[in-house]
Amino acid sequence: MALYDHFIGGKSVPPASNEYFESENPTFGQPWARIARGTEEDVNAAVVAAKAAFPSWSGLKPSQRGRLLYRLADVIEKKAEYLAEIEVRDNGKLYAEMHAQMRYICEWYRYYGGLADKIEGHVIPTDKSGIFNFTRYEPLGVIGMVTPWNSPLLLLTWKLAPALAAGNVAVIKPSEFTSASTLEFMRLFEEAGFPPGVVNTVTGFGLEAGKPLVDHPDVAKIAFTGSDISGQKIYEAAARQIKHVTLELGGKSPNIVFADANLDAAINGVISGIFAASGQTCIAGSRLLLQRSIHDEFLERLLRVAGSAKIGDPMRKETNVGPVATRPQCAKVLEYIEIAKAEGAECVLGGGRYQGEGATSELFVSPTIFAGVKNSMRIAREEVFGPVLAVVPFEDEDEAYSIANDTAYGLGSGLWTSDIRKAIEGSAKIEAGTVWVNTYRALSYTSPFGGYKRSGIGREGGVEAIKEYLQTKSVWICTDPVVENPFIMR
Ligand code: NAD
Repeated sequence: MALYDHFIGGKSVPPASNEYFESENPTFGQPWARIARGTEEDVNAAVVAAKAAFPSWSGLKPSQRGRLLYRLADVIEKKAEYLAEIEVRDNGKLYAEMHAQMRYICEWYRYYGGLADKIEGHVIPTDKSGIFNFTRYEPLGVIGMVTPWNSPLLLLTWKLAPALAAGNVAVIKPSEFTSASTLEFMRLFEEAGFPPGVVNTVTGFGLEAGKPLVDHPDVAKIAFTGSDISGQKIYEAAARQIKHVTLELGGKSPNIVFADANLDAAINGVISGIFAASGQTCIAGSRLLLQRSIHDEFLERLLRVAGSAKIGDPMRKETNVGPVATRPQCAKVLEYIEIAKAEGAECVLGGGRYQGEGATSELFVSPTIFAGVKNSMRIAREEVFGPVLAVVPFEDEDEAYSIANDTAYGLGSGLWTSDIRKAIEGSAKIEAGTVWVNTYRALSYTSPFGGYKRSGIGREGGVEAIKEYLQTKSVWICTDPVVENPFIMR
């Protein structure tokens, strides 16, 4: 079995507790690695290392930081296959998906490397004579990054690339279910020429390693991706110290198909929205809102395509749907399937654990579709985070948007229509951070991503994201030799 220690100050460091926990390969249902079980002591050491690295890292010329991020991208490119394999072993993602993600991850570092020397303040014309006022954007300091298990390296990159470009340093706490890829990734920083301490990783459980990081007084900001329940706790803890946060949380995203859509494209979009990554994506289009006039025909065609998905080993090229990443998550998905049945939703595909050809462990769930769902049912309101689609019929545009927005969340959404008016009006009416029209799951480092409502605060991606890791200073310089009356505001 592989053994993974923390990564602190540029070195592998065993846990202060001397304890390790096992990480399971969901494809075969077997433990494959032992991971350091971090505690407050390890977190403190990592924060000390990060804090010590901050002055020299933030003091580098921005173009030097940019060059290091470019170099990191080159090193990642060389190690992409290896990192992709580790991720597949640890969380069961399709290798083909990981291959694409690794390519993207390099571009993320290049994009923010390019932005590092373009962080410009402004000269501000004021109404005061003899005053020169300008703004500077400055890094925050030590950023605590807490990540989930579904796309560990990609979601870390969304935080790390802008944070480092802006001159911050990082202490990372990956998910206890998928720590290995982050620790392997840490080894690349030395090869790319980063000073030790700029990035650090402490592994372990949420309450044992995540909480001390969130509570640490020397951590200026928490960048978190995970469930809204943990997000709320982290937000509350950060509020006690008036810390900055970005929260990328869950979703119950509507995928709306109008009768005038290109139905072949919409079917593929619906499938990619819910069955890609076995539905374990925050942007899963888990509510299909289907116009009544095409309901039966569309559903029949959807069932044909979804029913032919190949389930099995995620390393194999022909596999479309791999396992669910963790045992607790698998149990949760199966429980939601039972809840939906008990609520009276009609199960028209799948509906339980998958034990057919290709199933190599107990962690496979059949792609599942429920028809006749009411938006008030739990299957339409709560995030399942698995390959389970709820189909809700609607009559007209007003009803479609009213159902779409009748949710606590607002992360992703899809709109399928050939009518440009509906595309433009609909994209304004839907309350979500992303609206895809005639496509789904398109993401880029150039474009901001984040949630409305309970799906989160702040944005990752694009120029906007770098501002999440900066604070604004307004500098006032008086060039007027006249001495002012000190008792009156200037
Ligand atoms: P989770 O909230 O259980 O855990 C996420 C991370 O938080 C883990 O590292 C965990 O150890 C840590 N953690 C938990 N409680 C903590 C606490 N009190 N203090 C500090 N750290 C704590 O989420 P998960 O099950 O790993 O991931 C799935 C969730 O993530 C889903 O809800 C999904 O929608 C969401 N997600 C959101 C996005 C997005 O960008 N919006 C992307 C991917 C996943």
